[in-house]
Amino acid sequence: MTQVSERIANLAISETLAMSQKSTELKAQGINVINLSVGEPDFFTPAHIKEAAKKAIDDNFSFYTPVPGYMSLRQAVSQKLKKENGLDYKPEQIICSNGAKQAVCNALLAVVNKDDEVIIPAPCWVSYIEMVKLAEGKSVVIRTGIEQDFKMTPAQLEAAITPKTRAIILCSPSNPTGSIYSKDELKALADIFAKHPNIIIIADEIYEHINYIGKHESIAQFDSVKDRVVIINGVSKAYAMTGWRLGWMAAPQWIVAACNKLQGQYTSGASSIAQKAAEAAYLGDQQCVEDMRQAFMRRRDLIVKLASEIEGFKVNKPEGAFYLFPECSYYFGKSYNGKTIHTSADLAMFLLEEGHVASVGGLAFEAPDYIRFSYATSDENIIEAMRRVKETLAKLK
Ligand code: PMP
Ligand code: GLU
Repeated sequence: MTQVSERIANLAISETLAMSQKSTELKAQGINVINLSVGEPDFFTPAHIKEAAKKAIDDNFSFYTPVPGYMSLRQAVSQKLKKENGLDYKPEQIICSNGAKQAVCNALLAVVNKDDEVIIPAPCWVSYIEMVKLAEGKSVVIRTGIEQDFKMTPAQLEAAITPKTRAIILCSPSNPTGSIYSKDELKALADIFAKHPNIIIIADEIYEHINYIGKHESIAQFDSVKDRVVIINGVSKAYAMTGWRLGWMAAPQWIVAACNKLQGQYTSGASSIAQKAAEAAYLGDQQCVEDMRQAFMRRRDLIVKLASEIEGFKVNKPEGAFYLFPECSYYFGKSYNGKTIHTSADLAMFLLEEGHVASVGGLAFEAPDYIRFSYATSDENIIEAMRRVKETLAKLK
């Protein structure tokens, strides 16, 4: 009677959201937890964006929205893609959703049939594999480590492609590693895709603006593949708007039409108020984006310095996003107070319970030897968190 469907029974819970929830519960018990688990900007949404949302309420933007989003927002996104990325997408090739999360899931549901293979370079964001499951596809994970800066090589990609490959999810800048594919690296990957015209390239570019090495590069710039690239983006990270739930995809029209059909039966158009706010974000002054990027870069430097001083951590210097992903297997097999650490999930739990720092174990990102810290928090929190991590890990013998 109470048996849920196999679809849900087989689905893992989102580890990022679960760790964050656990941290909130401990805080409610009066424990001073520093939450470096969930990845979201700690800044408030910029004032001019909030004003646009208030105006939208007063102007009665209270009715159902068109399923793919207001034309004015799709135009603003089309202009953004031209101006910032040099890419030509008509507003008809853009569909807005409830966050970039829904946009990724829409893309998979739109193109993947049962048992189709979807290539996922790992470490990867927690939700990709579960979304592929929902689409009844099969994930084919390409493993990469810190020694290759977590980037797959063209040879690795080529070896993973089979006649059943339907799609790949490429995330750059990456969650959880912060790695960024350069233009040359993307070109080398595009050259391989050019030989396999049936593969849809889902390019998750949600961290586009949190980039410490220069201009964002999209794989959609290469004409050899552009007609099967699905760009995923949104306002969550760049404009500190995670709770507004507004993301979008820019894609070939047949994929947008499929997502329109899916969304029309499933969620309808995204929130009217969030859409008007997003429009203001794209059309307004972009200084807020740069100010937040600068702050994230300072914090990146700070956490890299402090984490490098922790015994047993192997740390790289992430080029984007707001995560540090140290290798931590040095601690596996070590114990404290009768508790032995076997996995990075054990380590994350130990750091939470013993050190009151919330992080996420690497297994959830298909990288069991690593642990993720989100540094989208104040310098003060970063300093205190790393002090606690160092002190807590030193107890393990
Ligand atoms: N892709 C990646 C790589 C992310 O880290 C996130 C944030 N959780 C998303 C997509 C989803 O973003 P949104 O909050 O807009 O749904
Ligand atoms: N991008 C964030 C993270 O990875 C948000 C949480 C989520 O949706 O997974 O922590």
